[in-house]
Amino acid sequence: MKLLIVEDEPVLRNALLEYLRHDGYVCEVADSYLQAHEKIKLYQYDCVLIDLTLPDGNGLDLVRTLKADGSRAGVLIISARAALDDKVLGLELGADDYLAKPFHLVELNARLKAIIRRRQFQGQHHLLFRDLSVFPEQALVLVRDEPLTLTRKEYDLLLFLLANPNRVLTKESIAEHLWGDDADTADSFDFIYTHLKNLRKKLQEKGVDNYIRTIYGTGYKLSTE
Ligand code: CA
Repeated sequence: MKLLIVEDEPVLRNALLEYLRHDGYVCEVADSYLQAHEKIKLYQYDCVLIDLTLPDGNGLDLVRTLKADGSRAGVLIISARAALDDKVLGLELGADDYLAKPFHLVELNARLKAIIRRRQFQGQHHLLFRDLSVFPEQALVLVRDEPLTLTRKEYDLLLFLLANPNRVLTKESIAEHLWGDDADTADSFDFIYTHLKNLRKKLQEKGVDNYIRTIYGTGYKLSTE
């Protein structure tokens, strides 16, 4: 799961970054409206956390941009502005939720998980795909009721594929998703190959074959048949 944290207060930004990274999210940060705008134009996120009061702009305009672009990212507004108008407007613009500062990180994480569940798992606590069942809150994958042991990156890769069935995912988009700002293209392509090989092997050992197709020269696709 890849997140963008838009927050200009360094203490809160770093607290969010540390907490959410520790929980296994791939996180990027933006400390200004312009930086955030550039990132949402360039990259795909599963969820964007948006502070409304930014030094060079209004977070609500970022929500507008995401919606105008047809982004699939969830949007969680975090704001110290307690104004009801902001909350109503934010939700009307298409934000998924609104959390007033100060908040507990545990609550933020619960709201985030709910958004991701709604968006990617149609509100279900688990996802079924052919012989796979995935329980994202426990990071648990079952193959015909037998647990599959995956590394964090293998798990993230599988979830990214499951969120995009039958769509070709380029190596660039996978690298972006798995490493965010740390994606160094040349190296990360080798890592993707290795993680994919291992993931396929583990699936094969459980009798699951040909779920992940290689699209020569482009990337990979999760096949629904
Ligand atoms: Ca602020």
